[in-house]
Amino acid sequence: MKKTTLILLIALLIFVQPSFAQTDAKRIQKDIEYLSHDKLQGRYPGTKQELVAAKYIIQSFKKSGIAPKGTDGFLQAFPLKSSSNPHASDSDMTNVGTAHNVIGYLDNQAKYTIVIGAHYDHLGLGLAGNSLDPNPKNKIHNGADDNASGTAGVMELARIFSQNNYTENVNFLFICFSAEEEGLLGSKYFTNNPTINLNSITCMLNMDMIGRLNDSTKKIVLSGVGTSPMFGNILSNVVSNIGYKADSAGMGPSDHASFYLKDIPVLHFYTGTHYDYHKPSDDANKINSQGEVAVIDFVASIAKQIAKYPEKLSFSQTKNNISTGTSTFKVTLGVIPDYAFDGDGLRLDGVSEGKPASKAGLKTGDIIVKMGPLAIHNIQDYMKGLGMFSKGETVSISILRGKEPLNIAVTF
Ligand SMILES: [Zn+2]
Repeated sequence: MKKTTLILLIALLIFVQPSFAQTDAKRIQKDIEYLSHDKLQGRYPGTKQELVAAKYIIQSFKKSGIAPKGTDGFLQAFPLKSSSNPHASDSDMTNVGTAHNVIGYLDNQAKYTIVIGAHYDHLGLGLAGNSLDPNPKNKIHNGADDNASGTAGVMELARIFSQNNYTENVNFLFICFSAEEEGLLGSKYFTNNPTINLNSITCMLNMDMIGRLNDSTKKIVLSGVGTSPMFGNILSNVVSNIGYKADSAGMGPSDHASFYLKDIPVLHFYTGTHYDYHKPSDDANKINSQGEVAVIDFVASIAKQIAKYPEKLSFSQTKNNISTGTSTFKVTLGVIPDYAFDGDGLRLDGVSEGKPASKAGLKTGDIIVKMGPLAIHNIQDYMKGLGMFSKGETVSISILRGKEPLNIAVTF
C-alpha cells in the first residue's frame, strides 16, 4: 500500500468513524419521515403497521450492534385489553389483540442499567376517541412529533452509546413502547414483566415529543427532577445548548410514570405541545430536526453524568402536580396549556375547535389570569379552577391578549 493511500485511509477512518457516534439531524429526519409516513397508518397498536414500525426499529438496533432483550428476539408481545366497564378488574377484560414493545440491550458489564425509552405507537385512524380533530374518523394520525421524534431519539442514542468507542460504567436498555396512547399499556406491561432485574435500573429517561424545539426560546420541559436527590447535582454538571423548565413530578401523562410507580427515578424530555397535537396534521415537515439534535445531546450528556455515579441513584417520591391524562374534571375548556411558560398566568399554546374556549373566542397566545373568582398564576391554579365548575355553567374568564386585558364569558 502506498504511504499516501495509507494516510488517506487513516484520515478517512478518523473522519468517518466519529460521525456515526454523533447525533445527526438528517438521519433523525429520515427516521421520523419513515415512521410518520401515511403508509404506516398512524402506528396503531396491534395492527400490521405497528409491526412494520417495530421492524424498522429492530433493523436500526441491529445495525448499532445492540443485543435483543425482548421475549422473542427484540420483541416483547403483550395483550391489548378492553372493557366497556372502566371499573372492571383485569380478569373481566377481553383480549382484543396483541401489541409489541421493542427492546435492545447494550451490556457494558456494569452493575446498573439506564433505561432509555419512548413510545412508538400513535392514534392510527383516529377511531379510539383520543384525537383532538373535530371529525377524526378514518383520518391518518401520523404522529411525527408524538412520538416518531422520541423513537428516533432512542435509535440515535443506541447508535451513539454503542459506537462511541467508550465503555460507560452503566448498561443501557433501549425500549420503544407500544400502546402508550391507550393508557401507558406497553410500559406498564414491561415494568410488571421486566426482561432485566428492575432493581438494577438506576433511572429511566423518557423522550415523548421532542421534535418541536422552539428556536427562539431553546427551552424544553424537564419533568421528574424531584424523583432523585442526585438530579440537582447531575444537571448542574451538564453543559448544553438548550435550557429547561424543571418540573419535579414523577407522575405524568407518559411512560416514565410506569417506572416512577416502581420507585425508579425518572426524567421526561418534552419540547412542549402545539396546535397539531393529537391531530392528523402532526407531520414530519414540521419537525425541527436540528433542535432535536440538541435535545438528544442533552439526554446523552445526562446519561454520561449518571454513569459516573458508582451507586444507584436514590429515589424520592414527588407531589403529583400535573394531570395524569385521565382527568377527573367535570368540565373541559378545550385548550392546550403552554407548559414551558414562565410568566404569571396560563398561556394557551392551542385551542381545540368546537370546545368551550374556541366557541367563546379564546385564541392561541392568550394568557388566562382569572377564572370566575379564582386568580390563575400557573397550571396548578388552572387545574383547581376546572374542578370548581359544572357543565352548562357560564364563567367570566379574564385574559391578557398581548397587553390588552379582556373578559370573556365561557360556557362549559
Ligand atoms: Zn406521546
